[in-house]
Amino acid sequence: MEKKTIIKSTSGIRGIIGTGLEPITAAAYGAAFGTFLKKGKVVVGRDSRPSGAMIMPAVISGLLAVGIDVIDIGIVPTPTVEIAVKKIHAQGGICITASHNPSQWNALKFFNHNGVFITPQEYEKLDKIFNLKKFAFKKFDKLGKEVKQTHWVDEHVKSTLAIKEVNKRAIKRRKFKVVVDAINGAGSVALPLLLEKLGVQTIAINCAQDGNFVHEPEPVPKNLTQLSRAVKKHKADLGLACDPDADRLALVDEKGNPIGEELTLTIAVKAVLSKKHGPTVINLSTSKVTEDIARSLGSKVYYSKVGESNVVQTMKTKKAVIGGEGNGGVIYPAFHSGRDSLIGAALVLTVLAEEKKSLAELVATFPRYYNIKLKDKLKSNFAKKRSQFEKNASSILGKSTLDKRDGLRFNFKQGWLQIRLSKTEPIYRLIVETKNKELTKNLADKVKKYFK
Ligand code: MG
Repeated sequence: MEKKTIIKSTSGIRGIIGTGLEPITAAAYGAAFGTFLKKGKVVVGRDSRPSGAMIMPAVISGLLAVGIDVIDIGIVPTPTVEIAVKKIHAQGGICITASHNPSQWNALKFFNHNGVFITPQEYEKLDKIFNLKKFAFKKFDKLGKEVKQTHWVDEHVKSTLAIKEVNKRAIKRRKFKVVVDAINGAGSVALPLLLEKLGVQTIAINCAQDGNFVHEPEPVPKNLTQLSRAVKKHKADLGLACDPDADRLALVDEKGNPIGEELTLTIAVKAVLSKKHGPTVINLSTSKVTEDIARSLGSKVYYSKVGESNVVQTMKTKKAVIGGEGNGGVIYPAFHSGRDSLIGAALVLTVLAEEKKSLAELVATFPRYYNIKLKDKLKSNFAKKRSQFEKNASSILGKSTLDKRDGLRFNFKQGWLQIRLSKTEPIYRLIVETKNKELTKNLADKVKKYFK
């Protein structure tokens, strides 16, 4: 029998259905979250994967049992839950989604009353309640009440259109044709609706919202072949792909080439900083192209640890006007502080419309970096080798400076390299980025060999 596991991280818990994540666990987490909050309302939404229909009622049951009122907003993007929490002035939110993970996975993401991921300190308290099973169960006349609300995707779209930096008029005038691949996930309704409101001719593929992940759901280039073909077939201006909970966005250009998920954030940063001055925050795994573009527009750039809650926290302390993660996660804090593919799409179309460029032409104006991201199994001597590597890095990289906020990040003349451990799997991740394709590949090979 497979080992039953629940993987815990600061943003929530995740597990494989049938071997870790069951309705009993889900109900206990609902009750733990409600006990932690003590009273009030919680917004609950989910992505479209079939197990959500089993997990969601259990989570809601746990919340109701400890006297929390529940607003069930149905199948929605993760950012829609965040927006609803803020607008309703709820005490918290739960989104049931395993994000880019395949169908056998599901997960709970917890949000606090600000509509942002709960902090590590908040998570610690929640986890303690869960472990001790100290649930504040209520008598029959003090149970929570449940209402269903179905208008939050419309509200999300409406609010996105109201963002000042989204140039609706220019987008409409441009008469874009766009193919959307929402992997039949929670963006299946939201993204096409947004495009329609922007006057974009939209061709929707994999937008049935039935949770049928017809290709691997992470929106990285190797998984976007169907979208690439559709863009070429329909002679579209570009293709948009999101992950199953629609917080990440990736782009395919008019020639059918996936431009890499890094550049979604670069373009969004350009859109905002062209109109608004202020700092930018990106995480330590994000391509330097975003820093270059932000600096060229007069923005100070700060780096944060990897993980959405870390980025959001740094954005708050630095008073950033834009930020996010190089994996296609755009965060526009004047609206809400979470990754949002709808905002990403609206900002990308704005830049293309205002600059009167195609996506490939726009990308050609950016500094060109070659980036390799890989992961490999940890060997037992990894820690020892890592400290040796730290000491001897100059023999491989030349002169470099070391940033140890998140794993090891070496900044050297031609680029940067990051080695960090996964928090959930026995693997390490390596990112190498330079302006030279050969050099990037050579360095990646060398480091991988070093840790073999
Ligand atoms: Mg996601």
